[in-house]
Amino acid sequence: MKPSINILILFLVLQPLAAKRPNILFLFTDDHATQAISAYGSTINRTPNLDRLAREGMLFRRCLVTNSICAPSRAVILTGKYSHLNGHRTNRDTFDGSQQTFPKLLRRVGYQTAIVGKWHLKSLPTGFDHYEVLKGQGSYYNPLLITNGKNITHTGYTTDIVTDHAIQWLDGRDKEKPFLLMCQHKAPHGRWEPALRHLGIYDDVEIPEPATLFDDYSGRGKAARGHKMGIAGHMGDARLMFKYSSRFTPEQFKQFDGYFRPRNEAFLKANPQGSERTRWNYQRYIKNYLACVKAVDENVGRLLDYLDEQGLARDTVVIYSSDQGFYLGEHGWFDKRWMYDESLRTPLIARWPGVTRPGSVNTDIVSNVDFAETFLDMAGADIPGDMQGRSLVPVLKGKTPADWRKTFYYQYYESGGHGVPAHYGVATARYKLMHFHEPKINEWELYDLKVDPNEMKSVHGNPGYSRITAGLESEITRLREELEVRDNQ
Ligand code: CA
Repeated sequence: MKPSINILILFLVLQPLAAKRPNILFLFTDDHATQAISAYGSTINRTPNLDRLAREGMLFRRCLVTNSICAPSRAVILTGKYSHLNGHRTNRDTFDGSQQTFPKLLRRVGYQTAIVGKWHLKSLPTGFDHYEVLKGQGSYYNPLLITNGKNITHTGYTTDIVTDHAIQWLDGRDKEKPFLLMCQHKAPHGRWEPALRHLGIYDDVEIPEPATLFDDYSGRGKAARGHKMGIAGHMGDARLMFKYSSRFTPEQFKQFDGYFRPRNEAFLKANPQGSERTRWNYQRYIKNYLACVKAVDENVGRLLDYLDEQGLARDTVVIYSSDQGFYLGEHGWFDKRWMYDESLRTPLIARWPGVTRPGSVNTDIVSNVDFAETFLDMAGADIPGDMQGRSLVPVLKGKTPADWRKTFYYQYYESGGHGVPAHYGVATARYKLMHFHEPKINEWELYDLKVDPNEMKSVHGNPGYSRITAGLESEITRLREELEVRDNQ
């Protein structure tokens, strides 16, 4: 969609104001795939408020995560360092809050810093003037928030409550100082429990299936065939909401259970098998997932409206991202972890009035390891030499440096979760070479995204790709050296 003339005029008028240190509003979600955002061309969802953000800012098509799993991604964002250096390789780790993080550094240069919502790093937040975070994964309803050390339970839908509390903090902040606010939702992480107002919103539609829903993995090695994230076989009853993860009030339970119980009973009665079960599970999964995203999009809209009403929009950078991508039925899967594209890439949309050209689209390889450096640069703070990413500020200005990265190193450590073995690899604009290095597998896979954008057939070992493979292998060696990767532990 083309930006309107008005937005372009606003852009030109606001350009001279860009020198002022901006506020930073970081809107963050959990497991939100680009495939579920209409600004990214989603064929299954409409997200009007995220689309507005993209229309008024820059949308990044190739934002890649260094390690596609929840807590490690958060640690990468806070530190600007890969997992092996920040110490948070898997969800089992506890974040070392004594280390250098970008909120601490922003605070040192006079920013007020706050985080509201999902934290998921086990240790309590450090570097924030105010924190109000969910305990662990948190629940979709009636969440317990740890508010500056104190446990308080709230009644309502968590996505709404997180936004309410973000707005409350904004209302009470010191208006003389710039702020960093990290507003981080639990949604749309499983189990997918939509807001009561969104129960049944997709009842009358059939959501299109992804082209690779029935991938039989015959074009890959052993790794994918050992998965435990199948729409057909691994969602299990609980994941499809035969059991609920939230503690409801009696009235909430009545509505929630009233919606799901008849559907559960119908499923048990029909007991679909084979491809019919896959299709049935997909429809239920994706409708619940999209209904959770609906509340996220509405709450993004609430914050954008708040910035407008308070006269803050022009001085505030708004960034939207997720801890990683997710499979929405592609390759027959839910979940994340793989270096395959749906989980390697994550949404990134940034609106910086007067700096970023409205409606721009970027295809450079950027990463969650760049976020810390970017926020420090926006604030005019020094970027520590031990951070491993690069500031996106020139990219946001539309001037990507000539020596911007053309290759990207990935490493996943949490062996076994959903059957995904540890692996590492390199991605370029066209190719991906990955090594499933555990002795029980020890296989390489190579994908040529130009001829095989859905990554259905590894061409590793194909003589036509031997020169490409050798080049990518030596690039992995170079990147591991540069990033100080000593081993695969
Ligand atoms: Ca996640």
